[in-house]
Amino acid sequence: MHKSSFFAEVNKMFDHAAKYTEHDSGLLEQIKSCNSVYHLSFPLVRDNGEIDVIHAYRAEHSQHMQPTKGGIRYAPMVNADEVMALAALMSYKCAIVDVPYGGAKGGICIDRNKYSQSELERITRRYTFELAKKNFIGPGIDVPAPDYGTSSVEMSWIFDTYRSVTDNPLDALACVTGKPVGAGGVRGRIEATGRGVFFGIREACSIEEDMHALGLSSGIEGKRVIIQGLGNVGYHTALYLERAGAIIVGIAEYDGGLYNSKGLILNEIVDHRKETKSILNFPGATNVKNSATLLEMECDILVPAALENQIRSDNADRIQAKIVAEASNGPVTSAAGQSMTERGILIIPDVYLNAGGVTVSYFEWLRNLSHVRHGRISRRREAHNAVNILKTVQALVGKNFDDQVLSDIESGSSFGASEADLVDSGLEDTMVSAYHEIHTEAHSHDVDLRTGAFISAIDKIALGYSRGGIFP
Ligand code: GLU
Repeated sequence: MHKSSFFAEVNKMFDHAAKYTEHDSGLLEQIKSCNSVYHLSFPLVRDNGEIDVIHAYRAEHSQHMQPTKGGIRYAPMVNADEVMALAALMSYKCAIVDVPYGGAKGGICIDRNKYSQSELERITRRYTFELAKKNFIGPGIDVPAPDYGTSSVEMSWIFDTYRSVTDNPLDALACVTGKPVGAGGVRGRIEATGRGVFFGIREACSIEEDMHALGLSSGIEGKRVIIQGLGNVGYHTALYLERAGAIIVGIAEYDGGLYNSKGLILNEIVDHRKETKSILNFPGATNVKNSATLLEMECDILVPAALENQIRSDNADRIQAKIVAEASNGPVTSAAGQSMTERGILIIPDVYLNAGGVTVSYFEWLRNLSHVRHGRISRRREAHNAVNILKTVQALVGKNFDDQVLSDIESGSSFGASEADLVDSGLEDTMVSAYHEIHTEAHSHDVDLRTGAFISAIDKIALGYSRGGIFP
């Protein structure tokens, strides 16, 4: 099957939205273009002494705000077109949720399962060193994060390598986000993207007229969900949806899928995968040989949470879901998106929906630059204030609270926002506000949510350029 350029796909979506704005065509061209792409290759001496040539990339799409920001993926299909497209999506994503970065994305063209842990460490450190040499990484330049095939482990190697070469070690922690908690990471980053996807879906499902138009009732409770991809994002999205009362009827993975119209219990599937190395053959569920078929099965909400280019012109007409929630980047091509929108399917677009990861990365970066844990300075003060208020209430009503309640609050153990609470509430507020912003934009132009989201991004980036890149 012919795979069109991913970057061209993103640009089609951009061009469609740009028609609804009044910006100068030259400025639109500047916003759209990818400012820099670095393709590097270096040798890896493998554990057995053989030499592999490793190809890697970093694309910085837009410097209208700095640093640029975006993940690093390890996958065999990584190429320049892909990182440019993903970097562009990062620029628009950051603008939509008011996170003050330009977009970037990097990738190393490897199948990580074919390399040992120490080989992966050498690859990651060399990649970081090469980026540093060319000024493609730094707290104020370009800040990577985890993406498909990477996690906090690679991020800590990146930090450690950068720290050893920089002449500004004081701020070195802020050169990368998604680090382990206890090593500069922020609580809540691992689950952030999936948690953000959940907040976005919840918000969409809370708008009664929109749900009515789809023939659905409002709220998450009872909604039947199919998830494609049970990685970090897919797992956490499914977890929060399940906790809110959704029924997970299908899960697709690279080697096939599972379906049970009565519902699957997420953690039972995860335990089964731990034991057998596959989600398949789970007792009580039907195996679906070809995981692509699972996308086409009956459900209310379909969540693609794997890779790009999953719903295209050749399968879009068979999608039965009423809502497609794009947890991954670029799962739906522009033509497929258009035809599904015409069929009345509500698409919650990736540029908005998976922005939770970079939002919490922003909180981590702020923590690293301020050198203090969120809530550390104010938490105890909040507890004292609460006790003072309660004591005043006691005096007014002439009734005493339990001493234990007051001393628990005073000790800070049961009062005052912890870092995890603050991160979660910041994430929720960001996702809820941004949903209403893109929804309003879409309604005022009578367009779909993706176009509304792109219009919002274009306007904000244009403003960023006109201000010379001042924070919003
Ligand atoms: N890789 C994630 C994304 O695509 C997170 C990027 C970041 O935190 O910088 O949004």
